[in-house]
Amino acid sequence: MNIVLLGPPGAGKGTQAKRIEKALGLVQLSTGDMLRAAVKAGTPVGLQAKAVMESGGLVSDEIVVGIIADRIQEADARKGFILDGFPRTQAQADGLAAMLAGIGQPLDAVVLFNVDPELLVKRISGRRSCEDCGRVFNVHTAPPGTPPPCGQCNDQPRLVQRPDDNEATVSKRIAVYEEQTRPLVDYYRARGLLREIDADADFAAVTARVEQALTAR
Ligand code: AMP
Repeated sequence: MNIVLLGPPGAGKGTQAKRIEKALGLVQLSTGDMLRAAVKAGTPVGLQAKAVMESGGLVSDEIVVGIIADRIQEADARKGFILDGFPRTQAQADGLAAMLAGIGQPLDAVVLFNVDPELLVKRISGRRSCEDCGRVFNVHTAPPGTPPPCGQCNDQPRLVQRPDDNEATVSKRIAVYEEQTRPLVDYYRARGLLREIDADADFAAVTARVEQALTAR
């Protein structure tokens, strides 16, 4: 199964992708994670992307389509994937359709996370991740100590905040979503792939809704 998780920043796409990848035997492909890794490693892509990401803008379609085109051909993605944070523009969606047609692995569904816009800024500014295990916490809704226990950092997370998770950048990222990414809702609805869920609920309830949306006909 090949799916896209669509929704504004802070809607919970990354958290849910991690929860469902094991259950469904899929691999999470997050362009945000890939770009952050490139920035950390100081690669040419990372050097180009850093300032754009910190300002809350979008990295060029050419770069992100290229990253996904390479990643999607790796052996683990052949079993099925969850795209998280990609596509974000119509050019990316067209690029994705072309590359999937090329490898004969079409999309099965696009799950749209509907959330109350007023909650987004609070959710994102509370977000922290562990430098050791990469797990994402939230100081408001899922503080350290929230199950399940972590074997890697022994529940002693070293918490860091993403540089683009401050209030000013978050507002810009939400505006960019509305302008550039929201049109993909109609794009995928027109192609019969859209499944909508109410994502204003606790993690377990949202996971159940995603799984239900994927199995419903
Ligand atoms: P995310 O982790 O998905 O919130 O992405 C963090 C940042 O990485 C975004 O604000 C963009 O600057 C950049 N980014 C991630 N995915 C994409 C994409 N598909 N297209 C353009 N920029 C992206």
